[in-house]
Amino acid sequence: MVVVGGGVAGSVAARFAAKNGFKTLLVEKFKTPRNKPCSGIQFQYFEKLIGEKIPREKLCRNELSRVEMVTPRGKVLKGRMKMLNFWRSTFDSWLNSLAADAGADFRDNTSLIDLIEDKNEDKIIVKVSTEGMQEEVKTRYLIGADGMLSRVRRKLRPQDFDRKASGATVNYYFVGEANLDPNTLYMFYKREFCPLMFAWVYLKDDKWVIGTGANENPSEYAQRFFSYVKEKYGLRGEVVKKE
Ligand SMILES: Cc1cc2nc3c(=O)[nH]c(=O)nc-3n(C[C@H](O)[C@H](O)[C@H](O)COP(=O)(O)OP(=O)(O)OC[C@H]3O[C@@H](n4cnc5c(N)ncnc54)[C@H](O)[C@@H]3O)c2cc1C
Repeated sequence: MVVVGGGVAGSVAARFAAKNGFKTLLVEKFKTPRNKPCSGIQFQYFEKLIGEKIPREKLCRNELSRVEMVTPRGKVLKGRMKMLNFWRSTFDSWLNSLAADAGADFRDNTSLIDLIEDKNEDKIIVKVSTEGMQEEVKTRYLIGADGMLSRVRRKLRPQDFDRKASGATVNYYFVGEANLDPNTLYMFYKREFCPLMFAWVYLKDDKWVIGTGANENPSEYAQRFFSYVKEKYGLRGEVVKKE
């Protein structure tokens, strides 16, 4: 079995494959821990999906135990709800190590560059490259978990890639003071801030994450939402990153 992509999907798939007796190679194109633009928020049931309790030190220092939702009509709903809060670099790296502990051969800095079906042998020849060194691996099973621009899917289903993807999510990372609770995930179901779902604010260790998503002009929505949050919650400090 060859699994391409050392993100959540690939690492978990490789771990289960190895646990179930498959000789498994997991390849990740970047040196790990690698950065991944992602808010790193998940429901607690994620632990059931990945089949492991997440060690406390793999999560952010501040826990998210409450949610506050602002409805389209401006009503504020508050409740208790525990959410997982993590940095994807730390988290995915831990998942990589779980796959390796289960017996998978994990190789970072290693990219899938091509795949060819060998119909005679009913196998797939997978070409990988580690720092310029190329190698061919024959496998009966291949899992493409190589993200949104997946090379595996592009090769097998090019028709899925003939339209340009639209839409994006934008996060501002802000360091400083805010009149906000560090243990609350704030969600704003307001079309002026997010035309798709909701815009969000919450703390990740020492950084406030202020973000939104839109099919068109996501940066405009993000800027408008950031200005709103800055004024309403008295942000004092600076934006250290936008992604
Ligand atoms: C700004 C932002 C915020 C988000 N916030 C959240 C959130 O709070 N909660 C949530 O659940 N989701 C969130 N998401 C979505 C989430 O990031 C994705 O759903 C998730 O990362 C998908 O996981 P994956 O393992 O399928 O792919 P990825 O995490 O994209 O992993 C794919 C891996 O494959 C590797 N790879 C790519 N090509 C190759 C190749 N040729 N050879 C080898 N390796 C390769 C990549 O380097 C990468 O490590 C967010 C996304 C964005 C952009």
